[in-house]
Formats: sequence, C-alpha cells, structure tokens
Amino acid sequence: MLQTLHSIVQEVNAARGLDHALNIIVKRVAETTHVDVCSVYLVDPDTQEYVLMATRGLNPDAVGRVRLRLDEGLVGLVGERKEPLNLEDAEAHPRFRYFPETGEERFHSFLGAPIIHFRRLLGVLVVQQAARRRFGEEEVAFIVTMAAQLAGAIAHGEATGTTTRLAGGGRLSRRPITGVPGSPGVAMGRAMVAYSPADLFAVPDRPAEDVEREIAAFHAALEAVKEEVKDMSSRLADAVSADEHSLFDVYLRMLESDSLVKGTEQRIRDGNWASGALRDSIASHVSVFDEMEDPYLRERAGDIRDIGRRILMRLQLDAGDQRSVPEGTVLVGEEISASQLAEVPTDRLVGVVTARGSGNSHVAILARALNIPAVMGVAELPVNRLEGRELIVDGYAGRVHIEPTPGAKKEYRRLLREDAELSEELQALRELPAETPCGYRVGLYANTGLMADITSSLASGCDGIGLHRTEFPFMIRERFPGEDEQTLVYRQVLEPFVPRPVVLRTLDVGGDKPLPYFPVHEENPFLGWRGIRLTLDHPEIFLTQLRAMLRANAGCGNLRVMFPMISRVAELDEAVGLLERARDELQEEGIDVEMPRVGVMIEVPSAVYETDRLAAKVDFLSIGSNDLTQYLLAVDRNNARVADLYDELHPAVLSAMNHVVQAARPHGTTVSVCGAMAGDPVAAVLLLGMGVQGLSMSVSSLLKIKWVIRSFTRKKARALLEQAWSMERSQDVRHLLNGALEEAGLGGLVRAGK
Ligand code: PEP
Ligand code: MG
Repeated sequence: MLQTLHSIVQEVNAARGLDHALNIIVKRVAETTHVDVCSVYLVDPDTQEYVLMATRGLNPDAVGRVRLRLDEGLVGLVGERKEPLNLEDAEAHPRFRYFPETGEERFHSFLGAPIIHFRRLLGVLVVQQAARRRFGEEEVAFIVTMAAQLAGAIAHGEATGTTTRLAGGGRLSRRPITGVPGSPGVAMGRAMVAYSPADLFAVPDRPAEDVEREIAAFHAALEAVKEEVKDMSSRLADAVSADEHSLFDVYLRMLESDSLVKGTEQRIRDGNWASGALRDSIASHVSVFDEMEDPYLRERAGDIRDIGRRILMRLQLDAGDQRSVPEGTVLVGEEISASQLAEVPTDRLVGVVTARGSGNSHVAILARALNIPAVMGVAELPVNRLEGRELIVDGYAGRVHIEPTPGAKKEYRRLLREDAELSEELQALRELPAETPCGYRVGLYANTGLMADITSSLASGCDGIGLHRTEFPFMIRERFPGEDEQTLVYRQVLEPFVPRPVVLRTLDVGGDKPLPYFPVHEENPFLGWRGIRLTLDHPEIFLTQLRAMLRANAGCGNLRVMFPMISRVAELDEAVGLLERARDELQEEGIDVEMPRVGVMIEVPSAVYETDRLAAKVDFLSIGSNDLTQYLLAVDRNNARVADLYDELHPAVLSAMNHVVQAARPHGTTVSVCGAMAGDPVAAVLLLGMGVQGLSMSVSSLLKIKWVIRSFTRKKARALLEQAWSMERSQDVRHLLNGALEEAGLGGLVRAGK
C-alpha cells in the first residue's frame, strides 16, 4: 500500500489544478481499497459549509450541490472530532443525514478522516461500502495517511486558485498564502515569473497568443533537436558500444512519439504557449516512467527530462525571451537571484515574492534597499501558474493574495493611502533628533550592506551605521575578494559618514548565507560552521578582511569592528588577537593605522549569559535579535512552517535582552540592538524602557522609530515594560503596546505595521 500511496501522491502533485487532483484521489483510493464509494468534502470558507467536491460511487451530479453545515451529518462529526470515524451501520448513527441526490442509501459502512493542514480543517475524506462491516485497521491507517498527504496538495491547489467552477456553483474562495516578511510595505501589481532559462519545470504558463505560430515554433525546435541527436549519434558511432549507441534511437523515437508531439500540440490548442505545453507533456511522461517498477525503465525518466530541456533551449533560442517588463510588475520565482532582480527596471518593479529564501536572502536585502515590498519563503507559491496574475504583496505580514477579491483590494488600497500619508508626516521628523520628551538621546543607526543603502542612509539623517553586513561583496563574486578590493568597498562605506560611527561586521557567511565558491554542506547549518567560527578557522580570509578594514579607516577614524556569532569568550580573544596582528603588520609595513573600537554581537544564547565577561573586554555590544530569537526559541528563522512560532516579543527573548542591558551597565559598555526588532515600533518602546542606547535598522524604519522615541518618556516606557513583564503571552504585550502607541497619537504606525 505504501507504494500505491506514494504513486497517488505523485500523480496528485502533477495534476492540473485542484479539481483534477481531487478526481485522481477519489478514483485511485476507491480502486486501491476496493470500496464502493470514495468522496472528498471540502470546507468552503465563505459559507462555512462542506461541499462535495469529488466522488467515485455517488451520483456525479451531486458534486458541487451537496452542502452541509460544519455541525451537520457524519462528515461534520469527523471534522468536529478531528479523528477518523469508522461505522458499520451509518444510518443507525444519530448524526447520520441523508442526501437523496447522492443515492447513498445503498451504502451502509462509513469511514471518514479529517483533512488537516497546519491545524486548519480543510475537509473530510470519506469511503463507504454497501456491505455492513467495520473497516480494518490497515484500511483506516491508509485513509488517515492519504488524508494527511492530501492536505498539502489541497492547500496548494486552493492557493493556486485553479479551482474551477463546479456544476452547481460550488467554488472555494481563495485565501492569502503566507511566507515571511522580506521587505516592508504593500504592493499591488501583476506577476512576472523569473526562471532560469534552462529549467524546464520552472517555465510558467502563459496564454498562447497565436496558436499556429506556437505549434510551428514547437515543430521547428523538435526538428532542430532531432538533428542535434543525429549529429551526436554519428559523431559517437565509433566511440561507444552498440548497446549504448541504441540510446540515440530511443531519443529519436521519443522525439517522434505521439504523446510528445500530439500531446504538446493539443496543449497548445488548449491555450498554453509552446514552452508551457512542452513542460506539461514532459512532466506527464516523466511521471509515468518514474512510477515503473523496472529500474531500467525508471531511468528513462532522466532521458525524457533531458529531451525536454533540449527542446526548451531550442524554443528559447529561436524566440529569445523577449518579455517586456510592464509597469507594476511583481517579480515572482522559486528563488530569485540578485542579478535577476537587477535586470528588472526599478521604476516598473513594485514587489517581489519567492517560494524559498528568507528575510536574509540577497534578494530581500536588495528589496529593502530599493524600498520594494517583498515576501519570501512562500512554500505554497504556485510559481508556474502565476504569470500575469494579479497579486497583492503584503510585506508587513508576509502574505500574498493571488487574484485578490474586491474586498481585499479595497482594504489594501486604503493601507497604501495611509502609508503614503504616514511617510509624508514622517518627513517632518528628518532633521529632528531622536530624543525622548524627557531628553534621553537614543542613537538611531542604519543597517546596510549595499551601495544603495549607503546613499539612502546618508539622506536619512541617521547617527551612523550600526550594522554593515560585509557578506554582500563576497556573495556576488566568484572568489574571495582581495584586500585592495575590500579596502575600496569599506572606504566607500566609511568615508561619507565621517565623523559618524560605522560598524563593519566581519564576515558572517555559513548558515543560510553560503558562498557559491566555498560550498559547505551541513545537516544543521545554523548550528554549524558560520560567522566567527568559519573565519577563525580561516585566518588567511579573516586577516585579509581585517587588514582591509583597518586600511580603509586610515584618514577616516570612524570604524568600529564587530564580530558575529560569538558563543564563548575565547572566540572574542582570538578575534581581537588577529585584529591586533593585522594592525601590527600594517604598521610594520609603514601604513599608519589605529586600533578601532571593538564590539560583539549578542545573538547566541550562551553569549547572553556571558555578557558580563564579554562586556568587560569590548567597547560595545549589539544584540542580534534575529538570531537570538531563532536560537532561544529553537525556531528556524527561515522556515515558513514555524514562522508563527518565531516571536521577538516572547517573554524569554525580552528577558534575555534585558539581562544583557543590565549586565553590561556596570562596565559602561553600550548596548544596542541591530536585528529587525529594532525597527518594530512596539519593540522599540520596550527597548527604550530597558535602557538600550542604540537602535540599528533598515533605513525604511528609521523615521517611524524616531517618531516613537520622540513620543515616549523613559518613565512611560519603563512603566509599559513593567506591565509587559507581567504578561504571559506576546499577543497581550503587542496589544498593550499598540494601545499605548494609539494613545500617544501614533496610530498610523500600528496600522502600517499590521
Ligand atoms: C541578527 O542576527 O539579528 C542580525 C542582525 O544579523 P543577521 O540578520 O545578519 O544574522
Ligand atoms: Mg545574526
């Protein structure tokens, strides 16, 4: 049965849309379990009713017509109990409800299992049989497993909006799909799919504008590939055995097979462009071979993929990918590289959405620098069905609406208007100091990583740079950048800010920030070789960077050096030792450099409890709340599945931060915060209450936070912090602080932060 389950799931995942998927499910489950009936009921979120969406065995006309309230019938009972229900005689059950249109009176036994996705009840999978019997344990296990596997596929299908109108009008509404916020703001526009030209399965659907032209292009590509294969075949005729050589005949037969040729033509006639139609033909071919028991035949799936890629390349070569970028483009992709983003003219680009990645991906950093709303890590994103679709990108909440309802559009238009009003109001604060009404000055710094950030930070009137992530120049190159190259880059960061301080953080790669030319494969990269661990193990790389920083500082004098991922005092000692060595070497070479101020990031739980010792040895501490939250709560900061658990207002996180501030105080070591939390108005009030001296954030948040600081006395902030300590749940803390912001006349920030 396991084999069958696997193959059903594969077939379902390759289905065209939700309806097709559901029909595959009911057919295959009925066949496998030899039951008379298999049906899927899904919850319609609009009406809060179950709708019969697909059936094998009941009257097909009932599909879309049979609707039950959530508390109605046996189906309702399965959903309420969130457990399977196994009945020998369904009619005898008090909750049984009869629907004449289904013709189900003949079926006595009933087995239902809930379909649940991330705690959300999506529907119920039911099998029924005429004979009066209880289903066996193995059958129950199969149906429960099937329902669990289907949950993902159904949630995905629901998100794609590919559900078609059913007979009788049963249509599921679309809900927004969730990822993680990548760059704040709201964008409304149309999707353009970014894909790597050689990746067949990333090709998006696109309407065929001229069917005959698409078919002709497909045939031309097919012929070209046939020629290619023939060429290869004759070139290799002497070099390979006859057996191996017969592979080329197999290729040629595939290129002439009806399922490829006619199948693709038909798909084009159905409305898809040649590349999209080709993708589907190849996918369905591949899935047939993938399921074969014979390993030799299974291997053929690889050949088919290869053929597909060759034809695709030909198609692209002939057509060129001449997509013009319209106004209001939302760039969408499984993953988007910084260079793909850079290819889109910024005046046309309004938003970015990716299926993988996180708020720390290149593309998120770039989007923030460009002030473009972005949502990352949307695991359910149906990338190749999105081309040209209308989207709303909610970079605040990390949500994406596909083909949004008029209600959602209205709501977001209002939010956009409010955002515009707010930023106008905020401009008035630009020249004013970040000072509380009681005269306490908080340092407001920018987080940077790109040249674009530097320009906008300079214009923002910030007090300096609190975190410059040096990874970027390392990531966009094909090798480690040299000392001179780095010196130049760092000077461009330091110079414009003199005399304002600039914190350059030493290389923090590893974890989710691999270098393409220095691959590290680890089971648990976040607990692995990252940040200071990697650079201490490679003093040649580390010293080059430190020397470049010191050289760049010559004549500037505003450099601060900060070490990431410190988890023990020995690492700090070693790092400082290397920094001193770099200084000594340079001085010996006759270059006049001085020892800069040094700080560490507090972003690993052990460092929190070593604050006292660390603070005694450095000039400043900066709390990296992004990693600190991830490590304290054991929640991967990039994993959308547990994104709900990632919570910077968790009492443990707040308490750890407070500990750092208190423990550093006797040493006179300044403490600032440079994670995303510093840019959250709610958190900023609490941090002010704790007595944090500096906040470093993306430029787009600076003025909002300045507004917060100018609105709360330290006494008020302390009182709110006291109240927050008494609360067990972070939702209550957020509620409390939102209320305080509203009361202080900062309601605009609460709304914008939604
Ligand atoms: C952090 O961890 O909070 C931080 C600022 O560093 P990064 O996001 O680059 O890991
Ligand atoms: Mg970090």
